[in-house]
Amino acid sequence: MGGDHVSVHVLYDPWHHNDNWWWVRNLGLIWSSTSTYADDLNAATFNWNSATTGMGIITVSTSSVSNADVAIYDTTTTTNDVVLGRTFSNEGTIQLFATNINAEVNRHPPNGWKWERWVALHEFGHALGLGHSDPYGSATSVMYTHDDGVLDFSSSDKSDYNFLWSTIKWITSQL
Ligand SMILES: [Zn+2]
Repeated sequence: MGGDHVSVHVLYDPWHHNDNWWWVRNLGLIWSSTSTYADDLNAATFNWNSATTGMGIITVSTSSVSNADVAIYDTTTTTNDVVLGRTFSNEGTIQLFATNINAEVNRHPPNGWKWERWVALHEFGHALGLGHSDPYGSATSVMYTHDDGVLDFSSSDKSDYNFLWSTIKWITSQL
């Protein structure tokens, strides 16, 4: 935190958010998927919905395409051999780059599954309005840019999410 809220603008870093990626509608996030990473998407949904993990304000759920806010699909089409997933602001999609994900899985036996799980958690974080935790946040955050297979939400993941959504939920309740 920096700045005096009366005389100068407040720097609200390290609150990491990006409303351009935001696919929450009516305090919920509904996804549809043709992805082969269904187990990971379901597990990530569970973790984002869980108060035990420090989250759980926004209900993440799955539905048919016609009812969904965001459509998730696998693709092998990328010229970037590092990126594992991408949340698109303009079309309501999450792309999972299967070739790159599978390469990471093969690179980290027997824990390769953590990279599949991480990318699902991370892209849902974007769809929930969170930006990257770097450069100020912990590198052991789900929302860090690097794909280190982090599966536990860090204090910065939790504080960003809770600040964003507890505030908006409160505002909504006052309308
Ligand atoms: Zn990201």
